[in-house]
Amino acid sequence: FLYNQVQDLKGAIRVYCRVRPFLPGQPNGQSTVDYIGENGNIMIMNPLKQGKDARRVFSFNKVFATSATQEQIYADTQPLVRSALDGYNVCIFAYGQTGSGKTYTMSGPDLMTEETWGVNYRALRDLFHISKERADAIKYEVGVQMIEIYNEQVRDLLVSDGSNRRLDIRNNSQLNGLNVPDASLVPVNCTQDVLDLMKVGQRNRAVGATALNERSSRSHSVLTVHVRGRDLESNSILKGCLHLVDLAGSERVDKSEAVGERLKEAQHINKSLSALGDVIAALAQKSQHIPYRNSKLTQVLQDSLGGHAKTLMFVHINPELNALGETISTLKFAERVA
Ligand code: ADP
Ligand code: MG
Repeated sequence: FLYNQVQDLKGAIRVYCRVRPFLPGQPNGQSTVDYIGENGNIMIMNPLKQGKDARRVFSFNKVFATSATQEQIYADTQPLVRSALDGYNVCIFAYGQTGSGKTYTMSGPDLMTEETWGVNYRALRDLFHISKERADAIKYEVGVQMIEIYNEQVRDLLVSDGSNRRLDIRNNSQLNGLNVPDASLVPVNCTQDVLDLMKVGQRNRAVGATALNERSSRSHSVLTVHVRGRDLESNSILKGCLHLVDLAGSERVDKSEAVGERLKEAQHINKSLSALGDVIAALAQKSQHIPYRNSKLTQVLQDSLGGHAKTLMFVHINPELNALGETISTLKFAERVA
């Protein structure tokens, strides 16, 4: 059953939409989400408009309502994660405006319990679990890298000395096949190792930032899980990797208001998110030329976008009325890559 599902996803780009609930302590206003269909449709409503113009339907592979749990989200992500153990390259993205739930989906809330663990932890737990199951036939090694892309500069988030230096991207590098060969590659054996590493990553992310949330909403963070399996009988080696990407907030910044550093950040984010959209749209249309070179993000992920790689994009919706403009542009972005 699982095998079929994986085959089914081969080479495909999937788009899932997740609607964040209204948060405790917030006025429980009117939701802009009018209707969610079983078939992946979502209807957005503008209560300030009348008639035909008031509603608009978007279609995706799946839409998760506010009631969806982290476990349910992961159940539909698992086949992709598992295919990394079969030698595939996989990218999972979280897209959406700041505050729409990207980090919640990928990592979880600030105060986490096992129940609210996000995709990151569940994916690694799953990989460890399966590699144990297969231990008689295949010896797996799992290592992780964690980088941040901020203002088109790549930094290592797993340095222990806080040096956080700028790194180069080397495509087709012979060095272990890593695209960012100088970023720390840390072996992990159990979920506790991963939890500990994430703390290091979070700490390094905060370095030099005025407020962690601010910085994290303006940079992309990429957690890459490298999997290497050796067949104990034939000694053949199989390699796969899984990129878990928490993207910078997609909100457009009013150019008349943003100045200096803030404007520069906004321009870099804009550029890299549209470069990502262009790459995925070109892949979906089976275009001859895939414009990987237009951003650091697409360069880092080049080997894992297209070809036999698998891509999943979670787009996040904040149902509040004052987010409506961003909600529509998020859904339009997603529709273009779906
Ligand atoms: P982003 O990373 O897109 O800026 P966050 O993931 O930080 O957004 O989410 C914003 C707030 O909403 C956080 O307090 C988070 O815990 C909460 N939140 C997001 N998604 C959910 C959800 N599905 N269920 C409950 N709380 C959520
Ligand atoms: Mg976030």
